[in-house]
Amino acid sequence: VTAEGLRPALLPEPSDEDREFWDGVTKHELRAQRCSGCGALRWPPRPMCPDCNSVEHEWVKLSGRGTLYSYTVVMHPTHPSWEGRTPYLSILVELEEGMRMVSNLEAWRYGDDVTIDTPLVVSWREVEGVTLPQFRRA
Ligand code: ZN
Repeated sequence: VTAEGLRPALLPEPSDEDREFWDGVTKHELRAQRCSGCGALRWPPRPMCPDCNSVEHEWVKLSGRGTLYSYTVVMHPTHPSWEGRTPYLSILVELEEGMRMVSNLEAWRYGDDVTIDTPLVVSWREVEGVTLPQFRRA
């Protein structure tokens, strides 16, 4: 699969909303918006708080530590560029700051055991020159 073939599915195109997140990723920092109105973390990044409707926020650095909240094994490619890359594991990580993030589990192979509440820590994967956050067992 070529880099062009991967682009629609894998490679992010930062927007004004999430540029700070992707800038953090390049420095191996996991960042999220914290609402200036109520203090809630906003994920994914968005212009308005779903809890208090404030449009003000600051970016904060997260610890990168959490636990496995849920997961699913993806058997069918959802985009042509994923042909030959299934099955893979899609996970929902509950970060210790309280927000949940969809990601991948490093080094998972089909048939490996997966256990809810497993402690995880962020790791960084280079794909076609772009850094992506994923998680590994802590
Ligand atoms: Zn708020």
